[in-house]
Amino acid sequence: MAHPLFSDEHEMLRRSIHAFVEKEVAPRVGEWEAAGRIPRELWQRLGELGFLGLEFPTEYGGSGADFLASVVLGEEMARCRSGGVAFSVLVHTDMSSPWLVRFGTDAQKRKYLPGIARGETVCALGITEPGAGSDMAALTTRAERDGDVYRLTGSKIFITNGVYGDLYFVAARTDAGTPDRRHAGISMFLVERGLPGFTVSRKLDKMGMRASDTAELAFQDCPVPAENLLGVEGRGFQQLAAGLQRERLMAAVLARSGADQALEDTMSHLRERTAFGEPLAQRQVLRHRVADLATDLEAARELVYHAIRLFMAGEDCAREVSMAKLFATEVANRVAYDAVQMHGGYGYMREFPVEGFFRDVRLWTIASGTSEVMREIIARRLPL
Ligand SMILES: Cc1cc2nc3c(=O)[nH]c(=O)nc-3n(C[C@H](O)[C@H](O)[C@H](O)COP(=O)(O)OP(=O)(O)OC[C@H]3O[C@@H](n4cnc5c(N)ncnc54)[C@H](O)[C@@H]3O)c2cc1C
Repeated sequence: MAHPLFSDEHEMLRRSIHAFVEKEVAPRVGEWEAAGRIPRELWQRLGELGFLGLEFPTEYGGSGADFLASVVLGEEMARCRSGGVAFSVLVHTDMSSPWLVRFGTDAQKRKYLPGIARGETVCALGITEPGAGSDMAALTTRAERDGDVYRLTGSKIFITNGVYGDLYFVAARTDAGTPDRRHAGISMFLVERGLPGFTVSRKLDKMGMRASDTAELAFQDCPVPAENLLGVEGRGFQQLAAGLQRERLMAAVLARSGADQALEDTMSHLRERTAFGEPLAQRQVLRHRVADLATDLEAARELVYHAIRLFMAGEDCAREVSMAKLFATEVANRVAYDAVQMHGGYGYMREFPVEGFFRDVRLWTIASGTSEVMREIIARRLPL
């Protein structure tokens, strides 16, 4: 039954994404996992179907829909049985391009949004550095004004879509800041692939999310046109903080929905597999374990939807978003562990999707803010 959070239009969108995922994505994820990237044709197909610009204003090639449309996209993509495919797509639609919609000038939006919506311009988000992950304010990539360009120097690590991307949303320091105001002086830039001094130094080899490419990037006096400053100079940290709530919600959505799929796959296996003369699904110990996981997933779903409602109402929701991200991603990891266990030896085999989910979902208690960082944000908002 449809959840009351979603309208009939959202459910129609869900059916069309679901059908697309079943027919055109799921059958090919093995190929893309092996290749370590998703092909340009997938980006273009997603663009043709209108799934890459769901929230963009119509004048820039989008559909003018709300955040729930993106949630539907995240939930259905997460069911394709490759976390990496879903991750790459949602980094493009939800973890990078929304900053352009929110903080971009009309000229920037006209220049970039239509290509992003068509799947011709693939986006990446470049915040993390070798010396600055959870501690985002410690980033050291510099952007020095030089006439009508900013010269970027520094490096970024773990950048999704970074190897094959086209447009990078990069955080860099326009001002050194001070020890007590380290976040001051961070700005955001739109950096196009191919600029001199900008190189992909490494394609990183990962435990999971293998269909999404992950890069280490280097900038050496890279001249970024001054008109590609995104938002206000020196306000990048505040801009990023505003977008992080959305990114964390999407991480929670992807982890939870992928776990739903893994639990469904596990239930099918338990019904089909016979041991000691009856299907495993008849064993009370396994039935109860599934019941516990289904209950945890339902609780995670309601917590995530609650945070989404607050986010969409424009409320201060850092506490609830952090709780949703923490709980949903930790539950999804428990589901992965038990799903492999209940598959027995088959759960350890590449041909069974729970094996991939086990590796993929491990990311979600780390990326978009670790579980420890989520706990710290929550604790700061409690009367401790
Ligand atoms: C596959 C993958 C894709 C990614 N994609 C992107 C991307 O597209 N763009 C991007 O910018 N980044 C991306 N990241 C980076 C990701 O967001 C960071 O890895 C994450 O924020 C954690 O930073 P870190 O790796 O430097 O770990 P650290 O910050 O070094 O943390 C190490 C450990 O210490 C803990 N810790 C840190 N500070 C505290 C504290 N104050 N109290 C208690 N514990 C603490 C952490 O929770 C963690 O357990 C990606 C990462 C991965 C692995």
